Order: sequence, then C-alpha cells, then structure tokens
Amino acid sequence: MTYLINDASDFSAEAVRGLVAAHPEHVSAVHGGVVRATETPEGQPALVIGGGSGHYPAFAGWVGPGMGHGAPCGNIFASPSASQVYSVARNAENGGGVILGFGNYAGDVLHFGAAAEKLRAEGVDVRIVKVSDDVASNSEENHRDRRGIAGDLPVFKIAGAAIEAGADVAEAERIAYKANDATRSFGLAFDGCTLPGAEEPLFHVAENTIGVGLGIHGEPGVKEVPMGTASEVADLLVDGVLEEDPGIGSGRVAVILNGLGTVKYEELFVVYGRVAERLETAGLTPVRPEVGEFVTSLDMAGLSLTVVHLDEELERHWTAPVDTPAYRRGEVPGERAPRTAFFTPGEEEVPAAQEESQRQARRVQEVIELFARICAEQEEELGRIDAIAGDGDHGQGMVLGGRGAVEAVAAALERGAGARTVLVHAGTAWAESAGGTSGALWGAALTAAGRALSDEQASDDAVKGQALLDAVDAVRRLGGAEVGDKTMIDAAVPFSGELRRGLDAGTPLAEAITAAAEVAQQAARDTADMTARLGRSRVLGDKSLGTPDPGAISFSLLMQALGEHLAES
Ligand code: ADP
Ligand code: MG
Repeated sequence: MTYLINDASDFSAEAVRGLVAAHPEHVSAVHGGVVRATETPEGQPALVIGGGSGHYPAFAGWVGPGMGHGAPCGNIFASPSASQVYSVARNAENGGGVILGFGNYAGDVLHFGAAAEKLRAEGVDVRIVKVSDDVASNSEENHRDRRGIAGDLPVFKIAGAAIEAGADVAEAERIAYKANDATRSFGLAFDGCTLPGAEEPLFHVAENTIGVGLGIHGEPGVKEVPMGTASEVADLLVDGVLEEDPGIGSGRVAVILNGLGTVKYEELFVVYGRVAERLETAGLTPVRPEVGEFVTSLDMAGLSLTVVHLDEELERHWTAPVDTPAYRRGEVPGERAPRTAFFTPGEEEVPAAQEESQRQARRVQEVIELFARICAEQEEELGRIDAIAGDGDHGQGMVLGGRGAVEAVAAALERGAGARTVLVHAGTAWAESAGGTSGALWGAALTAAGRALSDEQASDDAVKGQALLDAVDAVRRLGGAEVGDKTMIDAAVPFSGELRRGLDAGTPLAEAITAAAEVAQQAARDTADMTARLGRSRVLGDKSLGTPDPGAISFSLLMQALGEHLAES
C-alpha cells in the first residue's frame, strides 16, 4: 500500500512538484508535466515521453540531456490528457519537431494522438513512437501491437542519445523504432499493487503462484505457475525473452532486470546472477546491464527482464552519456544555460487570417453551435443508451464538449481567427470540456478537419469534403476501433465511404453529406445487433445487445444535421 499521502486525488501532481523541487538542475514544471531545466540547441528534435504516473522513474525521471526533453505526467496509471501532452510538447519543441514516445496503451494512443493532431495543425513535425516490448501481450508477427513495459527505458535512452548526437526528427524516429523492434521484455508478478488511498490492491495474484506475463496494470497474462526459487524465476524470464530472435545476430544485448515495486535490489541481484549465466550459455554478451527499478508499478510485487539485441548503432546510443534525475551515465558534453522562458496554454497566437477565411470561420461557428444544440436536445436519450452497457455519460459528455467548443469558437473569432484556426480551437476545447473517450475522439476529429482548411484562403467544397474524411480518419487512427467493434466507427466508416463516392461522382457537398448521413443512421441503428468489444462497455458486452451504440447514434445525428444545414444555407 501507499503509506504517505496528503490527498489521494492530488498524489500524482504532488509527486511531480516534489520531483522538481529535488531536481531543479534537471527539470522544470510546466502545465501538464515537466521539461528540461536547461536550454536545448535550436533545431534539435524534442523527445517527449510519458504516460501515467505510478511508474517512476518512467517517465519524468528520464528528462535531461541525452534522454527526454519533456514528460507529460498523467494521473496514476492514467494517460496524460491531450492538453497536458500538447503543453509539454509545445514547451519542449525548439524548431526541430517532436517525437511523442509512450507505451502502447489505448488511452495513451488516444491522448498523445490527439495532441499530435493539434501540433501538426500548428505546423510542427510530430512523429509517434509506441513502445511495444511485452512479448506476453501479443504474437511475434504483431510485435508493434504489443504493450510497452520496461522497454521504454532502452527505446527512449537510444532515441535520446541519437538526438543528442545530431539526429533529426525522422532519423530519431527511425532509430527509436529500430530499438523497439530489437527489444523483448517478459514480466512476472507475485501480487498486485494498491492505488494511493485505496484499501485493497487493484488486483491479486493467487498466493504461491506466479502470474506469468501479467501486465503492469494487472492486464491478463499468459498463465499462472507455482511459485519457484530465484533461479527458476530467472529461467522463466530468460526463456520468455529469448523465445524470439529479432535477427540482429551480433551476440550483444542490452539487459534490464527491472523491479516493479516490492522486489528489491538484492533479490534482483540474486536473480540476475542466474540470468547472466543463462545469457552466456545462449552465446549472448550483456552490454551495460541494468539491475534496479526503471518502470515500476507502484508497490507491485513482480519483475521483468528486457533484452535489446544490439547492432553497432544501437550499442553506441545505448552506452552514450545521459544525465537525468533517475538515470545518469558518464558526462554529456556541452554547456547548458538554464532555461528561462516557458509557454502556458492559452497564450497561443492566433495566426493572421484572410477575409474570406474569416467569413468561413463564421460558417464554422454556425455548425459548431448547431452541433451543441443537437447534443443538448439528445442529451437524455444518449445518456440513456450509454447507461445500458456503458457508464451513462455520453449525452453529458457531448453537451459539455459542444458547449466548450462554442465558447472557444467565439473567443477565436473575436481574435480574428480564420476557419482553420477556429476549427482547431473548437477541437481542443471539445476534448478538454467533454472528457471521456468520445470527447477525445471528437476533439481530434474537429482538429483534423480544421487542419484541412486554411486561414489564408476560402476552402471550396472539395476541401470541405476532405476535411470530413480527415476527421473520420483521425477517429479511426486514434481510437483504433474496427468496423464491428460497436463504436462510432460503425457509423463513421460507412459515412466516409458513401461521402467519398458522392464527392467522386460530383454530387454537391450538402447532398453528398445528407446521403452519407442516411447511410450512417442506418449503420448506427444496426449496431443494436452487435456486441461491444471496445471501450468501457466491452466489459458488459452482451448487455449491449439490442441497444445501439451511443457514439454511433450521436455521430449520425450530427452528420444528418450538418447535411440539412448546408443544404439550407
Ligand atoms: P466513455 O466511453 O469514456 O464513457 P462516452 O460515453 O462519451 O465516453 O462515449 C462512448 C462512445 O465512445 C461509445 O459509444 C463509442 O461510440 C465511442 N468509443 C469508445 N471507444 C472508442 C474507440 N476506441 N473508437 C471509436 N469510438 C469509441
Ligand atoms: Mg460513457
């Protein structure tokens, strides 16, 4: 359990404040997380790494020369919000683009992805690196779909060193994925962990058993086996990571034996002794092995073994100097002046807009106001259907999102924004005001649509149609849902298909949207026959049978209203 708490709900934020107080030479607090306390050279890509709290030293403990440039810090085991990621990234960015690095979890994919949409809309070159090293979580063919665990350390260490050595953003992305593809981790747990302030652990592992391949938040593993000796545990770990050979063939490996919480250093060394023997037998030479705590999981009783198969390039970056609160090696060359200027969200400039685009921005305002009105009318009904298999907040989320977007649009218009900026601001505000999965997805959709428009000139119907297609693509990319998962994608993908057909056939925009919205409405109604596989309602999948998906319904209603509105005006 966690013994020392002031206020459980403020635990993560207080921990970040304490970290900054303890390491002022390394990190400075900004809205949403931390950034380096020192200046970085202009044009250097920024490596922004993050995820939920509860995993220290991951991720804020790895910010400093040779590794991260910033870390958004979410609540315990919860992804940082898109606005946190955005704020930290804007603070870290220095003209060389941004790499957003995080472990491959749905919430992180969603929120980092939404922040990426907004940064790209502002012209920043953003690359996404999802760490996916946990062999227990998916098959070898699907390596990039696996969960990220202690592989975060070598992947971010190697990417950070490459950047320090002069890599541009594309090169850093390449090296990061090369490291990820060469990394395999395998974890074991003997018991669960307890959230600060909670009475009971989040999950349990049966007494005298080992949860093999159990995730760092209690995600299901591959099997349970009886508890064994340290050497038997070492064998399980080594067998797990060596089952696959990424084909590098140098015989040299970075090795990380990682304690998750209550397995302490000397126990880890006992295990490592055996790990080293086994690696030698397998013909592998450990390079700068690390034994300790790197990606923890509060007080979870467990450990993981990570092996990175090194070629010359990966080894060079793995062994390069690094200087962060929790991870230091050698001396990173160069002088670094303390950083003095920071960015606070809300201080963004509104880019100058051309008159035609400002006029279209007012049309955008009408649409956002219309969306907000429909959400308010449908609030109760959307809440009712979300309550059947979900948590009942979909109507409320849409209303809050719509309201936030309406305010942001008015504020942006007052500052002379063009259509693109107005819609991008609407997206940010929607996501922040609505909360929830659908809020983040709608926010990203509006932002992506905004990106297709321009502040410099009026957009024609082809561009507007493309904006809608881009919006649906963003939802698909960030949410990761497929048709048939019973989400808004079940309405949005048929909508998109029909819209594209209409536009290709030369149908006027309003008419094409209306036709596509009809297809979406039918598809949304048809979701009643599906069982939910994603989102919160997946736990109660069968309960949703007979009820349509609320997100699919709200999507189709808004598109129908959009088509009618465009036809009238
Ligand atoms: P939450 O699920 O966080 O409570 P809402 O209740 O506002 O958020 O929205 C629920 C809707 O979000 C679902 O009905 C579904 O349409 C949509 N949704 C959830 N997860 C996804 C996803 N991964 N991709 C697309 N849509 C999703
Ligand atoms: Mg809900």
